[in-house]
Amino acid sequence: MQLTDFDYDFFVIGGGSGGVRASRIAAGLGARVGLAEERYLGGTCVNVGCIPKKLFSYASHYAHDFEDARGYGWELQGEPKFHWSTLRDNKDREIQRLNAVYLGMLERAGVVVHQQRAVLLDKHTIALGDRKVTAREILIATGGWPVIPDIEGKEHAITSNELFSLTALPDSILIVGGGYIAVEFAGILAGLKVVTTLVHRGSSLLRGFDAEIAGAFALELQKYATLHLDTDVTKIHKATNGKLQVLLSNDIELTVGAVMFATGRNPNTTGIGLEELGVELEENGAIIVNDDFTTSIRNIHAVGDVIDRVALTPVALAEGQILAQRLFGKNDAGKRRAMRYENIPTAVFSNPNIATVGLDEEGARQQYPNLAVYRSRFTALRHTLSGRQE
Ligand SMILES: Cc1cc2nc3c(=O)[nH]c(=O)nc-3n(C[C@H](O)[C@H](O)[C@H](O)COP(=O)(O)OP(=O)(O)OC[C@H]3O[C@@H](n4cnc5c(N)ncnc54)[C@H](O)[C@@H]3O)c2cc1C
Repeated sequence: MQLTDFDYDFFVIGGGSGGVRASRIAAGLGARVGLAEERYLGGTCVNVGCIPKKLFSYASHYAHDFEDARGYGWELQGEPKFHWSTLRDNKDREIQRLNAVYLGMLERAGVVVHQQRAVLLDKHTIALGDRKVTAREILIATGGWPVIPDIEGKEHAITSNELFSLTALPDSILIVGGGYIAVEFAGILAGLKVVTTLVHRGSSLLRGFDAEIAGAFALELQKYATLHLDTDVTKIHKATNGKLQVLLSNDIELTVGAVMFATGRNPNTTGIGLEELGVELEENGAIIVNDDFTTSIRNIHAVGDVIDRVALTPVALAEGQILAQRLFGKNDAGKRRAMRYENIPTAVFSNPNIATVGLDEEGARQQYPNLAVYRSRFTALRHTLSGRQE
């Protein structure tokens, strides 16, 4: 087959952070690019991740701001009231606006957008419904999907995906998990006056973060939420009044309005023709790629959450950009750029916020025999008058 016989030079499956960036850069470099997105342009980050979460986090912080304002001389008439439906619907409108921005941006870059599911038929052919298109290079950027462990009553539980569009906010919630998504939602929901309990099977929160920061954070969290560490959920039962009765492995029984699992996300790799083609996958379904983001099949590449390295938007963006430049770049410097994962700045929009970059203390100790550790504990100037202990 001649190169020009293909419909596209580059076809991207998945219109999330990684796919959008890779397709836009490739089109800018002169490639003929197609992209398929089956659900929502912008992917997880825009629709059910970073963006709505940060908007909810702002919403939740107002509760503290109203309280803190008193120390600064403000008198608020009566208790401020929060309307969930206003927040949810305004958030939905903003996301619809962003979906349109993404579509416009891709089309202006020259990317042909197919708003439907794509499945690989062979290493150069993609099925889009009952149509087929061909491409010289293919990128899988299909992201991940939250998983709920196999426990009795799991059908009554939700994940962050559903929480973003609940019809009504529950009066109480049990959040399961100890990672950043779990602790962020604990802070958000507690701020919105939902009675919040966090259950985590591990002995500390925020694995992978500096242990001292994670420990200090766990103490802060217990000012607004109940925490059960080393604990699992064993059973969920829906009572006749609609409440959920939850049995924990420490024999505690809770009655809550909702149970949300934030216990991990699996790579989205089933049913898109990867196994049939012989693309090598990890046991959890993640696509195995080399340093150039190429799979076991030379013209099929993968970036973002689907390769399960570091599941963050700027990482997916950087991987997508590096891949597009390597495949279609005009100069050697761009083509040779490699991805380095050591110093990824990371923020947790928990209450209080956490930010980190580089090695944690434990990691540093393994690399450097002589280490000086500087530690500072302080209360923000703002809270000297607000009276908040944080
Ligand atoms: C609650 C939550 C909060 C988060 N907060 C942050 C944060 O604050 N900061 C941060 O950096 N990261 C955050 N993340 C992580 C971030 O959203 C992801 O790392 C990022 O979206 C990964 O991008 P991606 O392109 O790999 O996949 P995605 O953004 O998931 O995009 C994949 C896309 O592929 C589409 N797709 C799948 N299969 C097909 C198919 N067969 N055909 C067509 N389309 C298909 C999907 O519909 C989806 O739109 C958060 C995630 C969650 C869940």
